[in-house]
Amino acid sequence: MIVFKFGGASVKNADAVRNIVGILKDHKGHIIVVVSAMGKITNNLERIIDHYVNKDIDGLREETNALKSFHYEIIDDLFNDKNHPVYKDIDKLFGDLDRKLDKEPSLNYDHDYDQIICFGELLSTKIITHFLQSHNIKAEWKDVRFSIKTNSAYREARVNWDVTRELVNEHFQFGKNQILVTQGFLGSTVDNITTTLGREGSDYTGAVLAHVLKAKKLIIWKDVPGVLNADPKWFDDTELLSELSYRDAIELAYYGASIIHPKTIKPLQNKNINLHVKSFKNPEAEGTIISNVDYEKLIPSFIFKIDQVLIRIQPKDFSFIAEDNLQTIFGVLSDNRVKINIMQNSALKFLICINNDKRKLPKIVDQLEKDFKISYETGLELITIRYFDESTIERVTINKDLILEHRDEKNIQLVVRDRG
Ligand code: ASP
Ligand code: MG
Repeated sequence: MIVFKFGGASVKNADAVRNIVGILKDHKGHIIVVVSAMGKITNNLERIIDHYVNKDIDGLREETNALKSFHYEIIDDLFNDKNHPVYKDIDKLFGDLDRKLDKEPSLNYDHDYDQIICFGELLSTKIITHFLQSHNIKAEWKDVRFSIKTNSAYREARVNWDVTRELVNEHFQFGKNQILVTQGFLGSTVDNITTTLGREGSDYTGAVLAHVLKAKKLIIWKDVPGVLNADPKWFDDTELLSELSYRDAIELAYYGASIIHPKTIKPLQNKNINLHVKSFKNPEAEGTIISNVDYEKLIPSFIFKIDQVLIRIQPKDFSFIAEDNLQTIFGVLSDNRVKINIMQNSALKFLICINNDKRKLPKIVDQLEKDFKISYETGLELITIRYFDESTIERVTINKDLILEHRDEKNIQLVVRDRG
C-alpha cells in the first residue's frame, strides 16, 4: 500500500483533476489518496471566516458565492450528467456550510475557524471520489475525522497517536476498493469536533496515515520537480536535490522551505518509510527521494522567510538576562504558540525573530511589556543557508542590510532589511 498526497495546486481546476486520474491509473495496488482543498480555496475560506466573525454580511455573501461557483464550475466541467450524484453531495455540503454561517459566532475564533475551514477538503475529496468512480476506478470516500483524533488545540491540533492508530486501522480497510480518498489537514477531538493540524498540514496527514498503516512509501505530488535548493518563486537557477536525508529534510522544512510541512518527516523516519516528492506535471521523473541516506554534504540550500519581526527584550531594571527572565519570555511565547525562528542573547538584551502574525504580535508585546522594555522592527527577512559557503552568502545578501547573524557548523541564519 502506498499513500499519495495531492496539494491544492494539483487539484486547482477540472484539468488538474483529470490529470490525477492519469497518475492513479499508472499505479497498481492499494493507494490512499490524501487531498487538500482545491487551488487557493483555504484562503477563500479564511476570508469567509473573517467576514463571519466580523459580521460583514456583504463580504460574507460575496466570498461564499465565489466559493460555490468555483466548485460548481469544476463539477460542471468534469461531469456531463447534470443528475450525477456529485451534485447532491456538494449541495449538501454547501447547505451544511450555510447553516454554520447562519449561527452566531462563538467567542472562540480558533474553534469557529476549524468548523468552517474544513469545507475546502470535504468538497475536494467528494468531487475527486466521484470523478474517479466515474472512470471505473474502485474508490471510496473516507471522512478522516473519524480516524485522526487530536487534542482540542484548534488550528494547530496535536494527534493522539494511540486512539488514531486504532481508528485508522479500523476504518482504512480497502475491501473491494483499490483507492481510499480522504482529507488532509483535518482531524477531530474525541467528541467529534473538527480540528485542523495547521496550515499546509495535509502532508502531515499523509505521513500519519503512512506511519500507522506501514505504507511502502508516501508520494507528495507537487507543481515543482521535487525538493529544490531554493524556492523557484524567488530564484531562477535552482537545482533539484535528488536525494535527501530525513535529517536534512527536517532541517530545511524547519527553517521554512515551504516544500514539505515540517512535521511530516518524523512519522516516516520512525518507520523508515521513504518520502518521494514528485511533479504531477511530469510523473515519470524521479523527483526527490527522502530516506535514511548518508552523505557528507550537499550543495547550499537557501530559504527566505519574509515578513519577520525582530523583538528586542531588555530587563527594565538593568538586571541580567538569566534563567528566571528567560522563563517568563518563553512562557509568553509558548502561551501564544509563537515559534522562534532565531534567538540571541547578551547580558542585557534578548533578541528573537518571529513571523509577523498580526493577531499575536500586539498580544505578546503587551504581555512582555509587563516585565521588560520592548522594541521591535517589522518588515524584515530571514535567510537560512544550509551547507553555506561564502559565495552563496554574497549572492543572497545583495542589497540587504545585515541585522543579525547566527552560524553553526552547517547552517547560517541572517536577519536582514531589504534596501528596496
Ligand atoms: N488546505 C490546507 C491549506 O491550504 C491544508 C494543505 O493544503 O495542506 O493550508
Ligand atoms: Mg499545500
